[in-house]
Amino acid sequence: MPYMHAMIVIQFKNFKVVDYVNNYYSREAYGVCYGHKVASINGMDMWLVTEFDEIQPPKYKKGPGRPKKLKRRELDENPNKTRLRRDPTPYKCSRCQATCHNMRRCPLPPPVVPEEETEELLKV
Ligand SMILES: [Zn+2]
Repeated sequence: MPYMHAMIVIQFKNFKVVDYVNNYYSREAYGVCYGHKVASINGMDMWLVTEFDEIQPPKYKKGPGRPKKLKRRELDENPNKTRLRRDPTPYKCSRCQATCHNMRRCPLPPPVVPEEETEELLKV
C-alpha cells in the first residue's frame, strides 16, 4: 500500500489509489494463501502406543544468583501486608489538619512563641 503522502499525491493528480496497491493485498491473493483445507489431527485415543517410557519434564535445576526474598503471589492470594506499598501515604498538616499540604507549606501564620520561652532557648 502506498504511504500517506504518496496517496495524497495520487488523489491530487486524479488517479486511483487502488491502481497503485500491490496485488499481494487483494482478496484473490488472500484466498490463494488461506483457501486450502487444514487437515484435522487425530484425538489422543487414536494415538499410537509405544514401548518407551512416558516423557517426563526436566529435573529442577537451581539457577544462579540469590533467590528472591519475596514470594510471588497469585492474583487471588492475600497480599503481603508487611511490604511497603508504592502508592503515597496520605499526609496532613499537623497545624491545621488539612490534607492538601504539610506543616511546612501551611498558609496559616507561624505560631507566636512567647518572649520568655525564646530567652530560655537562647541561654541554652
Ligand atoms: Zn496547614
